[in-house]
Order: sequence, then structure tokens, then C-alpha cells
Amino acid sequence: ASGCTLLRDPHHNKGLAFSEKERDAHYLRGLLPPAVLTQELQEKKVMQSLRKYEVPLQRYMAMMDLQERNERLFYKLLIDNVEELLPVVYTPTVGEACQKYGTIFRRPQGLYISLKEKGKILEVLKNWPEKDIQVIVVTDGERILGLGDLGCQGMGIPVGKLALYTALGGLRPSACLPITIDVGTNNQKLLDNEFYIGLKQKRATGQEYADLLHEFMSAVKQNYGEKVLVQFEDFANHNAFELLSRYSKSHLVFNDDIQGTASVVLSGVVAALKLVGGTLPDHKFLFLGAGEAGTGIAELIALEISKQTQSPVEETRKKIWLVDSKGLIVSSRKESLQHFKKPWAHEHEPVKELIDAVKAIKPTVLIGSSGVGQTFTKEVVEAMASFNEKPIILALSNPTSQSECTAEQAYTWSEGRAIFASGSPFDPVEYDGKVFSPGQANNAYIFPGLGLGLVMSGAIRVHDDMLLAASEALAGQVSQENFDKGLIYPPFSNIRKISAHIAANVAAKAYELGVATRLPRPENLVKYAESCMYSPIYRNYR
Ligand code: NAP
Ligand code: MN
Repeated sequence: ASGCTLLRDPHHNKGLAFSEKERDAHYLRGLLPPAVLTQELQEKKVMQSLRKYEVPLQRYMAMMDLQERNERLFYKLLIDNVEELLPVVYTPTVGEACQKYGTIFRRPQGLYISLKEKGKILEVLKNWPEKDIQVIVVTDGERILGLGDLGCQGMGIPVGKLALYTALGGLRPSACLPITIDVGTNNQKLLDNEFYIGLKQKRATGQEYADLLHEFMSAVKQNYGEKVLVQFEDFANHNAFELLSRYSKSHLVFNDDIQGTASVVLSGVVAALKLVGGTLPDHKFLFLGAGEAGTGIAELIALEISKQTQSPVEETRKKIWLVDSKGLIVSSRKESLQHFKKPWAHEHEPVKELIDAVKAIKPTVLIGSSGVGQTFTKEVVEAMASFNEKPIILALSNPTSQSECTAEQAYTWSEGRAIFASGSPFDPVEYDGKVFSPGQANNAYIFPGLGLGLVMSGAIRVHDDMLLAASEALAGQVSQENFDKGLIYPPFSNIRKISAHIAANVAAKAYELGVATRLPRPENLVKYAESCMYSPIYRNYR
């Protein structure tokens, strides 16, 4: 092979880090300037130039360029600087990148499957250069973060999520496949834009939509077998629940918006019990927002309580109440409710406003998942603080502008008593001479480790017990030092160790349930998880 080919291949390129011997052996002499740098020095150089960019989107584009040029250096940067770079390659910056995907688009980064490919999806999958795929993240672009329908431009999401699978969970980059399914868009601005990269038509729905997705799911299984993990991402809730329940019996599927969120939030609540006292069944929950996040979290909490108390989940759901855009979900509304809300329609008189629901239900845990900002008002937080010594308040809506309340508001209005975490990060807050560090209920704690656990055990199905296992492992990683600061999540700087523990717990569950195919079961699953993880350190090419 020529030296030029090597320099242009992002999987193998090391740039100035090619040694003298490698330069001789691989026809690189003269194609590089004479200096030889270590990977550490390259890393330092790229971080310095990244930090010079003032505009987050420029940092994002610089990172994407690096990924296309030198994959190992990209992952080394991401792993070593995870707290700093997570918001660059993922939310919030990735959202802006998706909105502008048409203009910043340079080279395709994933696989596009549109209605035009109907009947040919298997052939399209075979066009992807890598054959040994372990994880697919797929979106149809209809509900990108909190930004709505971005159609084909949603591709930034699967690309970003998979970068985190590798950096945080250690899955090989070549085993990760980002896919966008384009069935059209209802975003008029995109349809009117002459540079829009997707299909210029309204979204296909009903049978046409279901048929394309069915062909896709069948082709995936035919091409990659039973052990490939398909993560559904940022589908609108009317399709998300349906797809998950339809394919969970025949495929290894996972929906991060529903299940990943549920697992990370349950973990935070379980960890918070150390600060608040009592067991999970002692608590009462109220949600604002009854969509993918809200009902997903509610269901997993009900399941965990049902395991702990050995009572049926139909009973334990009664400790959990949800409010949607029409008010408290109660039995008199049952007929008109979407099916995923029906299990939460308990016996109660109608209540319209959140504050009245808070006063009527008197929850110990208040969770915001409506996507609407500033809904946990002073009155709401004060009410929570009036009947709870330490109210647990989780403001999950993203981005920061949509947060139900800020960390500062939660601590101030509760006189420093709230246990608070949020979807978007907040800086520490000083109140009454004490510093409070709010935690971030970021799904990125869970899905990389969960994915690794599934892949390393060769699991063929995802079971809710694995989500519980992931929650438990994450909660177990919160140290006394973290608790002392009021944190209910561990710091991200340890994420690879956290992921290994999550993976081990998930894999253990897969073996226990008999859905693991990698036999025999490794003795020490944490060690095994660590040994499976991709390392971004350069190889020697001799
Ligand atoms: P979704 O499926 O669209 O659900 C939104 C829910 O909020 C619906 O039940 C909707 O009510 C309700 N709602 C909307 N406006 C309301 C209002 N003014 N008052 C009361 N309820 C209202 O969305 P999702 O996927 O669950 O996401 C919701 C939010 O959670 C987003 O901001 C997202 O960023 C955030 N989230 C955070 C995390 C995390 O922190 N790790 C993870 C996932 C999602 P109707 O059903 O009546 O329309
Ligand atoms: Mn998502």
C-alpha cells in the first residue's frame, strides 16, 4: 500500500506520530514533515486549538474533522477530556449541528436509508464497509433532542451516540453503525430549503412507515444475526413505544429515550435514598410530563418496587402519579388516553394545575419530564419543602432553557434542603455559606455500559431486569465523598470504570436469564468488561 493511502485512512493514520521506522517501512518518507510527536503531544496540541474556538459549533466541527482524519486521536481526546468534550460531541452542541447539518455536511458519516431504498435495504446494509457490526443506533429524525422534526439531518444524533459508545463504553468504532431512516419530514423550513439533504416530502405514516421499518429490522437480523444491538433514538413517542414493544420479542432492541432515561433516573433516586432515608417503597412520586421519559421512568420505578415488596406491578404503580398537558392523569380520563398512559390513570378527582396536584398527592419525589421550562415554580418547590424534610427534585427537561427550575432556585426555595439533579448541567450553587453540587441525570452514564454488557455476553434480548441491574451498578458507584457534596451521580471522569461495572452487572443478568450466548461465562465479569474495551492508544505498524 502507498503511504498516501495510510495517511488518508482514519483508522490507521497517526499523522506526525509515525515513527522513523514506520516512515521507512510504509513509504511515508517525505509525505510528513520531519518532526515525530508522541500521541500525548498531539493530544495537547489539539486540545489547545479546540479551546481557542469561542463558538461551540466550531469545536464540534473540529472534532468531527479529527474523527475523519485520525480516529484514535479523536477517541483519546474524548476519553481523557470527557467532562469537557461530552457537551461538544453530544448535547447541547450536537443539536445545533443537526439544525445546520445541511451546511456543515462534508462527508457522509453513517448509513442513510430512505423510502427510495424500499425493497433494497439488505443491499444498502451490504454497502457499508464494515461487516462485523455490534451496535446500531438508528433514528427517523422526528424528535431530535428537544428540537422536534429535523428529518434526515438527525444523523448527527446516531453519530454522536456511537462516539460515546466507544469513548465511554469501549465498543470498537468499526463495530458501530449510525443509521438514519428518512421517511420524509413535516418540518416546512427544511422542505422549503433548497440545500436540504433529505427526502422532500411529508412523513410517511401508517402501513407505509411500518413496512419500511419492518424491512429494516428484518434486513438487520438477516445481515448481522441475532446479537446486534439496535438502539432506537429520538423517535416521536407515537412510534417509539410501538417499535419497542413490536421488536423486543424478536430482536436485541433498546430505546434510550424510554429505557436509558428510566435506568439513569432510577439510579439517581436510589442513590438519593442514602441522603433522604427510607426505602424506595416508602416514597411517593409525581411526574410533570407523561411521554417517553416520564412513563418510562415511572414503569421502571414501579417494577423495582414490585421486586422489593413482592407485590404485583399493578399495585406498585399506585404510588406513582403523572401530570400531562391536560392535568393529573386520573381514571375518569382513561378512555381518551394514549395507551402508554392508561396504566397511570388512578382513582382521583380531576386536578388541572401542577401546584394543586403537588398539594393533593404530597409526593416525596418530584420529576419534571415535560420539556417545558420554569414549571417548578417557587410555590411548587416551597410546597415540596413544606411536607418533606429533604424533597427530591429532578428537573430533567433539556436543554438548559427548558429546565423545570434551575439548581439555584431549587436550593434557594427549599432553604438548602432539596436533593436536586437535572437533565442539563448546572454549576455548583452557594447557599447560606454551603456549596451544593447538582448532579446531572445524563443517559450517557447508562447506555454505553449497558451496550457493552449486552455485546460482551452475546445477549440476544434486552430484559427490564437488565435495566434494573444497570441502575443498581451506577448507584453503587456513588462514593461517600460524592454524597457529602449532595451528589447522587458519580463524576464522569471515572466513566470507563463505571461502564465496566454496569456492563458486568448487565451481563450477569443476561447469563442468569439464559439469554447470553457467549459461553462459558467469564469468571470475573468486571475484569472481562475492562479487557473487552477498545483502547485508543496507537499501535506499532512494523
Ligand atoms: P414526550 O414523549 O414528547 O413527552 C412530553 C410529555 O410532556 C407529554 O406527556 C406532554 O403531555 C407533557 N407536556 C407537554 N407540555 C406540558 C405542559 N405545559 N404541562 C404539562 N405537561 C406537558 O417527550 P420525552 O421524550 O418524554 O422528553 C421530555 C423531556 O425530557 C425533554 O425535554 C427531554 O429533553 C427530557 N429528557 C431528559 C432526559 C435526561 O435527563 N436524562 C432523558 C430523556 C428526556 P401530552 O401527552 O398531554 O402532550
Ligand atoms: Mn435521545
